[in-house]
Amino acid sequence: MNHFEYQGDRLFCEGVALDDIAAKVGTPTYVYSHATLERHFRVFDEAFTGIPHIVCFSVKANSNIAVLRAMVKWGAGMDIVSGGELYRALRAGADPQKIVFSCVGKREDEIEAGLRAGILCFNVESPGEIELIEKVAARMNTRAAISIRVNPDVDAETHPYISTGLKKNKFGLPMDAARAEYRKAMGMPHIVIRGIDCHIGSQLTKTMPFHDAIARVAGLARELKEEGVPLTHLDIGGGLGIPYKEEEPPSPAEYGRAVIEALAPFRGMDLTVICEPGRVIVGNAGILLTRTLYLKQGEAKNFVIVDAAFNDLLRPAFYDSYHGIKPVLRRAGAATLTADVVGPICESGDFLARDRELRRPEPGDLMAFMSAGAYGFSMSSNYNTRPRAAEVLVHGDQFSVVRERETVEELLENEHIPDWLK
Ligand SMILES: *Cc1c(COP(=O)(O)O)cnc(C)c1O
Repeated sequence: MNHFEYQGDRLFCEGVALDDIAAKVGTPTYVYSHATLERHFRVFDEAFTGIPHIVCFSVKANSNIAVLRAMVKWGAGMDIVSGGELYRALRAGADPQKIVFSCVGKREDEIEAGLRAGILCFNVESPGEIELIEKVAARMNTRAAISIRVNPDVDAETHPYISTGLKKNKFGLPMDAARAEYRKAMGMPHIVIRGIDCHIGSQLTKTMPFHDAIARVAGLARELKEEGVPLTHLDIGGGLGIPYKEEEPPSPAEYGRAVIEALAPFRGMDLTVICEPGRVIVGNAGILLTRTLYLKQGEAKNFVIVDAAFNDLLRPAFYDSYHGIKPVLRRAGAATLTADVVGPICESGDFLARDRELRRPEPGDLMAFMSAGAYGFSMSSNYNTRPRAAEVLVHGDQFSVVRERETVEELLENEHIPDWLK
C-alpha cells in the first residue's frame, strides 16, 4: 500500500501533484510519502506486538535525515554500517541505546565514535574486530557491548549480490567459530556480551529462510546461555522483500508470525528481538521523478532518453532490477512503445528499464520510476560530474525539499590544483 495514485490523469503523492513538484524543484528528484513511511513502519512494528522488540531502521536503505527523523519520532532505533551513518543517526535524534552498528570492516575511529556515543551494541563480524574493540574500549576506560554476527548458512534465495547468509559470503562468522569467539570474549575485561545477530540477505520473498536462520541462531543462543554467556537480545537482521513487479513477498504480519513461531521453542530465554528492516519500510514509499529528453529509434531497439541515469538509480544496472514506470500526466489515446529507458551517461550499463512496454512519451513528459525509496538516492553517485538529485518529502498536501539538488560548484569544492601545476 502506498500513496502514489492518479487523481484524474495526474499522478499524485498524497495530496501533491508530482508535476507541481517537478515545476518547483526540477528533475530528477526523489519524492517520498510521509504517510506511506509511517504506515509501513507501524505495520512492521505491530507485527511484533506481544514480544519485546526494537525496530532498528537500516539507515543505508534511505539515509535522508528527514526520513530518519520521522522514524525516530515513531520510536525507531537505527541499524548503521559506518561512522557516517552514526553521525546521521545522532543528528536525527536517534536514541544511542537503540543503535546497532553492523559492518564487516569497522575502522578504529568508527569503533571509537560508537563507544563515545554509547550505542546499544556492535554487531561484530570477525575475530580481529573483537580484539580491536577490546583494545579501544580499554584505552577509553569503558566497556563495549557486542553481538556476534553469525552466518547461519541458509540460502536466502535472492539475487546473489544481496544474499549474505551463505558459507561463501564475507559476512559474519560460522556457527562454530562464533561459539569459540563468545567464549574468548567472555574473558575480555572491556567487552560486555549483549546479543547474537544474523542477517541473511535482502529482498527475500519467502518466510522459510528467515524461519530457518532464526531457529538456528536461537539454538546457538540457548547453548551459549546454558554456558553462562549473558545474552539479552537476538538480532534477526532485515531483508524482507517488497513487490517491485510480480513478487508476492510475505506481509510484515506474516513475517512477524514466522519470526514468533521460529522463536516459540526458545520462549523463556528472555531475549529482546531486534530487527533491522530497510527496504520494506522505504522501498514503496518513494519514487524517482524524471523528465523525458528524447526518443530515438535505433536499428534494433527504441530508446527513451531521460534526465535521470544510473548514477541516480543504480539498481537496474547493478542488480538487473525492475522498477515500474508511470506517466506523471496520462494522455488519453497515447500509443504504446517498447523501448529501453536510458540515461545520458556514457556507459551501456546506463539503463533504467529494458525492453519495456510504455505509453509513448513525448520529449518533456515526466515519468515516475516506482518503488525507488530504498537503495535509490542512498546509492547514487556523481559519476559524469552529475550533481545528485533533490529529495522531497510529501506530507498531506504540503511538501518539503529535504535535500537540495547539488550544484556543480559543490562537487568541485574539495578539489585543488596544486601550486606546481598553476
Ligand atoms: C542492508 C542491511 C539490512 C537491511 O536490509 P533490507 O533488505 O533493506 O531490509 C539490515 N541489516 C544489515 C546488517 C544490513 O547490511
